[in-house]
Amino acid sequence: SDRMVLGPLVGSIDQGTSSTRFLVFNAKTAELLSHHQVEIQQKFPKEGWVEQDPKAILNSVYECVEKTCEKLQQLNIDITNIKAIGVSNQRETTVVWDKTTGEPLYNAIVWLDLRTQSTVERLLKRIPGKNKAFFKFRTGLPLSTYFSAVKLRWLLDNVEEIRQAVDDGRAMFGTIDSWLIWSLTGGKNGGVHCTDVTNASRTMLFNIHSLEWDPELCQFFDIPMEILPKVRSSSEIYGLMVCFLKICPSLCLGDQSAALVGQMCFQDGQAKNTYGTGCFLLCNTGQKSVFSEHGLLTTIAYKLGRDKPVCYALEGSVAIAGAVVRWLRDNLGIVKTSQEVEKLAAEVGTSYGCYFVPAFSGLYAPYWEPSARGIICGLTQFTNKNHIAFAALEAVCFQTREILDAMNKDCGIPLNQLQVDGGMTNNKVLMQLQSDILCIPVVKPSMPETTALGAAMAAGAAEGVGIWSLNPGDLTAVTCERFEPQINPEESESRYARWKKAVMKSMDWET
Ligand code: ADP
Repeated sequence: SDRMVLGPLVGSIDQGTSSTRFLVFNAKTAELLSHHQVEIQQKFPKEGWVEQDPKAILNSVYECVEKTCEKLQQLNIDITNIKAIGVSNQRETTVVWDKTTGEPLYNAIVWLDLRTQSTVERLLKRIPGKNKAFFKFRTGLPLSTYFSAVKLRWLLDNVEEIRQAVDDGRAMFGTIDSWLIWSLTGGKNGGVHCTDVTNASRTMLFNIHSLEWDPELCQFFDIPMEILPKVRSSSEIYGLMVCFLKICPSLCLGDQSAALVGQMCFQDGQAKNTYGTGCFLLCNTGQKSVFSEHGLLTTIAYKLGRDKPVCYALEGSVAIAGAVVRWLRDNLGIVKTSQEVEKLAAEVGTSYGCYFVPAFSGLYAPYWEPSARGIICGLTQFTNKNHIAFAALEAVCFQTREILDAMNKDCGIPLNQLQVDGGMTNNKVLMQLQSDILCIPVVKPSMPETTALGAAMAAGAAEGVGIWSLNPGDLTAVTCERFEPQINPEESESRYARWKKAVMKSMDWET
């Protein structure tokens, strides 16, 4: 049969916390041609622990690639036109594997995991004044359970097999990007052990100015430097995939950086908020690193090529966003699917004074309080599951408001609208509520898979691939869905003030 002639295609592996996707774009138009998605199982072996099976993650990638290629073939699209594959991934999640067997030595410790609370306490004792922000200017990050270095420290302290493998020179450390790229480029038969600057900037072992692993930080965390991957730019050929589509080079970006690129936020001051498992608002600060006075992180936005400049971003990270909906589904069983929460909330249109602070993993920005725990308050005889569903969605909006306030204070110029993406943005009730709580318009691109698009763009733009120049003008403009504020600012302020009271109640729960 006749093959459709489309020109070059670009593939994108999007390995998120809740699912893995493979998407294929037409390089000329950025049109999404086909994709496949598989949900990832999360394990909660103990209170506060969150793990995933690295092998299952890798297999989900194979499955998505295979299924997408089948779909493309059914559409008569020639898969050999896929010229590059980008990888975007959940950040910070930590894997250690054996390079001689290719097998992981422990489950991946997911970014949300809280087991390192005592590790953090112990490390803090060695810092003058127990100052969490001691490494801020070097790493952009506060000492917290969130970043990879403390997770790796925990693994070295608690898993005998890992200690042994390090002693024998068999251990490799990586975030999910490194694990996938090493495996996909040959694994134990010569896989490429690398990461990119965006992922490296979330480990707390990386100096964000020199763009190198920092020997002093490695010493502080007592991490053997030989197990760390080589750090590359976010857009260059890392190696050849050996499993499928043999010709395809691979490139990578942390998922939040990928979304920034996919939303075309290339200018200073441009920002996006991604609503996935967590919620991440990133504002591009260009070639200068800006340090927050209000609890935001300084992170590497991207470095799109070996000889290209590095760009930084201010980031507000919220640990629990979509995860609270998954919790309503899996732990309370008040919805069967994540989508159903929209209907439940819409039926009441108010939380009726109920406030839900989902501090399941402590609180991230702007508080960085690991001892906070979730609370639902303001309950009356009248409260039902609809109100709780509404309060859960409203919590996502309030958390974003806190980040946006911090961002506006740090940047000086308030954002006058918010560009959004991620799985939760399919929820129109949430998007309207977000606009109401922020008192500014919320703008959504018509192609919401911006993370995957960003990784595809970085892949397509790499030297030696060269089918995309990262000039936003080359891409078809995305039409937007807009949500305008519909309640008055006083109403919004009074609800926000109540939320802040609820947050105070969630803090210091453990003491
Ligand atoms: P990640 O990149 O973290 O894997 P996604 O962007 O794929 O996340 O979004 C998935 C998350 O969004 C899940 O936690 C899910 O519960 C939530 N979600 C998906 N659709 C909806 C919806 N319609 N309403 C509310 N939450 C949703």
